[in-house]
Amino acid sequence: MVPPETGSEPAWWFAFQENKLLVCEEGSGVGLPILVDFSDSGLTPLSNHYLGSFDDRPCYAVEVAEGTIPPAGMNFEGLRQLYGRLDEDLFWIAGRAVQIMDWDRTHRFCGRCGTPLRTKSTERAKECPQCGLLHFPRLAPAIIVLVERGSKLLLARSRHFMPGMYSVLAGFVEPGESLEEAVVREVGEEVGIGIKDIKYFGSQPWPFPHSLMIGFTATYAGGEITIDDAEIEDAGWFSVDDLPRIPGRISIARKLIDWFLAKQEKPHEG
Ligand SMILES: [Zn+2]
Repeated sequence: MVPPETGSEPAWWFAFQENKLLVCEEGSGVGLPILVDFSDSGLTPLSNHYLGSFDDRPCYAVEVAEGTIPPAGMNFEGLRQLYGRLDEDLFWIAGRAVQIMDWDRTHRFCGRCGTPLRTKSTERAKECPQCGLLHFPRLAPAIIVLVERGSKLLLARSRHFMPGMYSVLAGFVEPGESLEEAVVREVGEEVGIGIKDIKYFGSQPWPFPHSLMIGFTATYAGGEITIDDAEIEDAGWFSVDDLPRIPGRISIARKLIDWFLAKQEKPHEG
């Protein structure tokens, strides 16, 4: 992605200290610094990546040194805590920015020959000047699937969830696997049931740290729930009237659950 040549117009700056974003406090919400040059904030950028444009302004990701004190009225905050407080479009651009910064930090040398990498100007990639190997940003595709059985849906509790929280099943796609095969395998491994009618639902970038969630719906086809103790603590069939605590609106998990609830014509409050 080629940055604009002028460099004289105000831009959005996504400035990170590790994985925390620099935000301006604006009443109950937060905003982002809009500056011609990031140095105008009084901070020194360590690296700079053009992200594209939003609202007719260019967007840049920059990194600042560990221990940098934010300017007055500004703070470094973790991305997840910013959902609902930062404009949603800016939030997802920040999700892109944090992944690019992380990739930049962790891909400095060629994995084949150890030579320092060179950033390509024509695409989001780094090239080894010695052996020519290309390195692209890391992206880990993961499937997420809502399984329905009549008026009930399958929800499970992972060992690392917050207390009382249940969600639909999800897991990473393995090399050589189609998305549909990953859906069948995950459901089989985690709860031991068979499914059918696998349909694409939608997708969502999930920058914690670098996933792409690909959502599906499916129908129960047979078997009894047998949980994989290593991954899952509890799983069961839930109806609209006896739902446990479910994930927040940021997630595609919630969009899947809301889709199912809407079909039952009883939207969940809260
Ligand atoms: Zn190399």
